[in-house]
Amino acid sequence: NKTANQMLVIFGASGDLTARKLVPALFNLYKAKQLPENFVVLGVSRSNMTDGEFRRKVVQESTYLKDKVKDASSDFINTFADKFFYEDLGEDYNKVYNKLATRISDLNNKFSTGENYIFYLSTPPSLYEVIAKNLSEQGLNNETNGWKRIIVEKPFGYSLETAKKLNIGLQTYFNESQIYRIDHYLGKETVQNLLVTRFSNSIFEPLWNRNYIHHIEITNAESVGVEKRGGYYDKSGALRDMFQNHLLQIVSLIVMEPPIDASAQEIRNEKVKALKSLRIMRDEETLYNNTVRGQYLASVIDGKKVKGYREEEGVDPNSKTETYAAIKFFVDNWRWKDVPFYVRTAKRMPTKVTEVVIHFKSPHHQVFKNSDMNNKDNQLIIRIQPDEGILIKFGVKVPGQGFTVERANLDFYYSNLADNNVMDAYERLLLDAMQGDATLYARADEVEAAWEFVDPILDYWKNGSDVNIYGYSSGVWGPTNSDRLLEGDLKWRNPGEN
Ligand code: NAP
Repeated sequence: NKTANQMLVIFGASGDLTARKLVPALFNLYKAKQLPENFVVLGVSRSNMTDGEFRRKVVQESTYLKDKVKDASSDFINTFADKFFYEDLGEDYNKVYNKLATRISDLNNKFSTGENYIFYLSTPPSLYEVIAKNLSEQGLNNETNGWKRIIVEKPFGYSLETAKKLNIGLQTYFNESQIYRIDHYLGKETVQNLLVTRFSNSIFEPLWNRNYIHHIEITNAESVGVEKRGGYYDKSGALRDMFQNHLLQIVSLIVMEPPIDASAQEIRNEKVKALKSLRIMRDEETLYNNTVRGQYLASVIDGKKVKGYREEEGVDPNSKTETYAAIKFFVDNWRWKDVPFYVRTAKRMPTKVTEVVIHFKSPHHQVFKNSDMNNKDNQLIIRIQPDEGILIKFGVKVPGQGFTVERANLDFYYSNLADNNVMDAYERLLLDAMQGDATLYARADEVEAAWEFVDPILDYWKNGSDVNIYGYSSGVWGPTNSDRLLEGDLKWRNPGEN
């Protein structure tokens, strides 16, 4: 695909995301010769800075490029940094857009960017609509000459109501086709590989339904706590921070029907349908039986004391914000009727891992008495991070007399590929937006369908003062109470343990 000449305008250019993710992603695209010939990055924030100072940050500060480009010559890095410019907006994001518009126009004229502009909003979300409005007042949403796109970061709303309001706000000034809602999980190779695993092989899809699948499990575990983000996290919590967006995106790729083709429109249509078929929990009994929340407690890990969540900086000492969320739910459609989905996300777990486990039903009749498979199931494990790959667990005969069966692994790891240069999610997603491909970006209706499912759980947790929030020691797999979600004698698959 050819990437047209263009300008990337980053709002929030002095912030953490720009430094840690966007600039390194752009540098890697530059190294891979993926940037167009005429390409300008215009950083925008309130802070006062010259072009030169911004470039110095890009090159010399370790959060930006310094420690990440050891193999590149300083000439090479400086030529990259020469593409960077900076404009400050002063104290107020509401004014001085005419000054910004003039700067954009000057840079466009000087560097022939074809009036193709991407506006990347990496600011506090409260500013998204204000910025969109101001851009439109300057005619910077107008596609008569050159295209205009706007990328917005998570969180996309705080609830269904606020997400709808934000969608309407943005759509007042930009067409839906110009709006790119980034969910960096969709930029991960292994998440995209879910689609390929399902729809380019004939060995999985025939089994991908209630006839053969017993249940589905998704685990997203972080070993760290909230680190420096206590203030932000305490207003958000695990369900908003991870489940509503990243994990429900993964769920939609597992649940969806085969799309007609791989276009953005067809794939996203199927994802919306999938999200709309999640059974919404409405009454208290259902909500109690299918949700568990928890909070990490102080503990000692590797001989080091770690704080409990409520002692973290920026966190209310009486906080009820969950750092652990486990949700069981069903999908109301032909394919998935009665198949339970168990999804959990948490901080301060024993390890950092994200994986999907498809658990298959056992054979109707067990022939071999001495078999592992009499109490273990067939599993397809899609490892999203780390050690990206796919694993199948199945029974094999142990060599020797008789029929002793043991469960063995058949695995594929991305790191085994000769060319295993897995693109960073931000690199991939930025390049897609630069080329106008929105397949891996969330559409307005997808975001709303996900909130529709999550909202009642959040309300239940918020309103029900008697809804327990269970403590769990840092470094264990969450509160033991989460076992009550599991049907029969099921157990969570704790990676590394079972
Ligand atoms: P950040 O470090 O706080 O930076 C935010 C930027 O916005 C800064 O450039 C800051 O620049 C400006 N800003 C901050 N407060 C402002 C205010 N009250 N009014 C106007 N401008 C303000 O935040 P970030 O971590 O880069 O995150 C940016 C966005 O990306 C957020 O929406 C966040 O939720 C999202 N996000 C971040 C990450 C991440 O890893 N950091 C991951 C996913 C999503 P000035 O003060 O110079 O104006």
